[in-house]
Amino acid sequence: MASVTRATSSVCGEFIPPPRLLLGPGPSLVHPRVLQAMGTPLLGHLDPEFLRLMNEIQAMLRRCFRTENRFTIALSGTGSAGMEALLVNLVEPGDAVIVGVTGVFGARMAAVVERCGGRPITVEAPWGRIIEPDDIRLALARSGPVKAVALVHAETSTGARQPLESIGALCRESGALFIVDAVTSLAGLPLEVDAWGIDACYSGTQKCLSCPPGLSPLTLNERALAAMRRRKTPCQSWYLDLSLVADYWEEGTRAYHHTAPISMLYGLREALRLVEEEGLEPRFARHRLQSEALTAGLATLGLSPFAQEGYRLPSLACVTLPAGIDDAAVRASLLRRFQIEIGGGLGPLRGQVWRIGLMGESARRSHVLTLLGALEELGLEQGRLAQPGAALAAAARVYAGQGEPAASPQQSARMSSERENACS
Ligand SMILES: *Cc1c(COP(=O)(O)O)cnc(C)c1O
Repeated sequence: MASVTRATSSVCGEFIPPPRLLLGPGPSLVHPRVLQAMGTPLLGHLDPEFLRLMNEIQAMLRRCFRTENRFTIALSGTGSAGMEALLVNLVEPGDAVIVGVTGVFGARMAAVVERCGGRPITVEAPWGRIIEPDDIRLALARSGPVKAVALVHAETSTGARQPLESIGALCRESGALFIVDAVTSLAGLPLEVDAWGIDACYSGTQKCLSCPPGLSPLTLNERALAAMRRRKTPCQSWYLDLSLVADYWEEGTRAYHHTAPISMLYGLREALRLVEEEGLEPRFARHRLQSEALTAGLATLGLSPFAQEGYRLPSLACVTLPAGIDDAAVRASLLRRFQIEIGGGLGPLRGQVWRIGLMGESARRSHVLTLLGALEELGLEQGRLAQPGAALAAAARVYAGQGEPAASPQQSARMSSERENACS
């Protein structure tokens, strides 16, 4: 009897996570349909039915990346694995790579280039600002031959959206590859892999795709694949060697490389189905609207956007804290009392900003209103709230279509139809 008690007491109980409203920089909330798909029975990773599911994922990912690239897959590993896979396959020892650094993730790219034996040439801008396309042009002109230009589309550490439209052409003129981190942009804001001349692009599942972390969707065009084939030395990572990984994803070959994370792929398929049911444009409009409402509400609380005007991410609001707000204490209260997670600042922005993610399923009106209501309540308790109700009212005005300055009749007609689609 006693031994039975000892045996059971050494076993952990069932883990039931407390409810959480995930409004941080990732992971985002996951739709129940995705969780349900992940709980379905396994197939073998070479089962013809599973291979069919992989084809479907590839087709949906191509539409999401807006590319015709045959080589479009979901790599095992999180967003950083996608970053590492592209760099380790495309950068050979001695290669120069221009890397845009305006925050944590650009700096991470430069660090990975260095570990590949490459020579990062960083083009920097103060955190929160973008890199002007002319600075890339200058760097390309000055640097001699470079293998690639690597930029972060959505810098999650600052909330800034790097414009990419004109960079692909610059890269082509100089014979450089264009590599893009789209971890916080894919399925949340416009990204045009083919139209913008992006040669290689990676993302992650736990941001705007609203799937748990664990896969990195990525895509390479013929230029990038040719650069891989021209390598003088084999890619130093066996696991991330895309020429080997390709043998598993390539229809017709489907050879074992490593065991695919089956349940994760089930989840991603369902998340992509949800993206397709909504449509990319309405999804982008929903992210824009929710971000507009949140930003309007936060402004009344003295929280102003950190990133450069005109280049702010709809998927992540990075806001400067007014003096006197105790960063850690307020975030702890939000979590403990309201079950809301938001993110703090990274690196030099620690204690200076909050990062509020409105990604995928998290970008819903009810979540924006819940967060604003909680912040008002905390502000009220601390006697810091000048005008109780102002944050919610400001958000409500955006939802009611009164949040912007006068727009042209065409613009407002377009905006109100987007709003109808985006108000859920
Ligand atoms: C989150 C993020 C990554 C890293 O992704 P992980 O899934 O944490 O490995 C890379 N780049 C950007 C811009 C990100 O936001």
